[in-house]
Amino acid sequence: MAPKRNVRISTIWLAGAVQHCAHACSYCSIGDKAGGRLPLEHFLDFVMRFARLLPRDGDKEVKVHPIVHYSYEYGAEGARRMEPMRRAFGLPTLEQITTGGLRLRDEAQSRAWLRDWRDFGVRTIHATFAGMNETHDSYNGRRGDFDYLWMLQKVAAELGMELGQSLLLTKTTAPRILELVEKLKTLNAPLDHRWVFPPAYMGHGKALEADRIGESERDTLPRELCEMRSPHFATWRSEREWLKELATEQTRQEEVFCNVRLDVSRIQAFETKESSEITKSLIDRARRAYEAIPPLGELAREFGDRTNERIYLHRYEIERLLVDRFLISIPTSFERDLTEL
Ligand code: SF4
Repeated sequence: MAPKRNVRISTIWLAGAVQHCAHACSYCSIGDKAGGRLPLEHFLDFVMRFARLLPRDGDKEVKVHPIVHYSYEYGAEGARRMEPMRRAFGLPTLEQITTGGLRLRDEAQSRAWLRDWRDFGVRTIHATFAGMNETHDSYNGRRGDFDYLWMLQKVAAELGMELGQSLLLTKTTAPRILELVEKLKTLNAPLDHRWVFPPAYMGHGKALEADRIGESERDTLPRELCEMRSPHFATWRSEREWLKELATEQTRQEEVFCNVRLDVSRIQAFETKESSEITKSLIDRARRAYEAIPPLGELAREFGDRTNERIYLHRYEIERLLVDRFLISIPTSFERDLTEL
């Protein structure tokens, strides 16, 4: 019999669909956002039940971590209402927000919205650019979006805030990406970070395989772009390169997450239960879900494509790709949405 995965749940992420996202990014790693919007107070009431809980998986503690999806549209006013939650869960002070998924505001409204964030204590305003102009608009599903993000960055700079920028690198965006970098430099503001990255193999990003860069694009990347690889995702390997590493992978205990997307109906299903009962059940269900899939080394040996030169930043991306192929070959029912797979 094939070996089972040996997993320990290290964190339960409670992700509340509190805020609508006004984008429809074709590279969105969250993917399908169906499900009713969850009022912020409802989410806070629910997650605060877990603040003093210390669930365990085996002999180790499991962290419970609330997170608000899908955008920062709620503004500094919403962030103030969330402060007790951040304190209760020991979350660090919010110093950076990203501007993806916001509704359109004119420049005066945007200035007031950003000023409120600055006064709240946010230091860095981040934006993701998927190419320039119409190319970006098409990736993000909204006409005029490049100009809008540009305006938000410009206003943030004028307010004395730092900028953060992520640049999506695909076969489509590559030809003009240095031009984009030069344009961004004209904002002439303190830069917290400027990163370049291929789309994650996750959510809608899975559908961008034909647009994903390969080894040849990676190996001829201009030095300036090489230096913009995020230190968090510095490993740019093709599938065939990942497979060489994974071929010798031994089955070992993995620390994994349990992801829970909360909407109104999911919270209602939990509401009659004790918090400790909920976490125990989530840990058990998540472990069963992980155990339904063979260990990574075996997936790599059985389902790896040794000719695939496309680039993936993280081993979880290769793992998802291999799980997708495994499921096509051997349809298996498990609660995939509770896992990172
Ligand atoms: S803004 Fe963020 S959450 Fe919204 S679609 Fe784009 S990537 Fe996804």
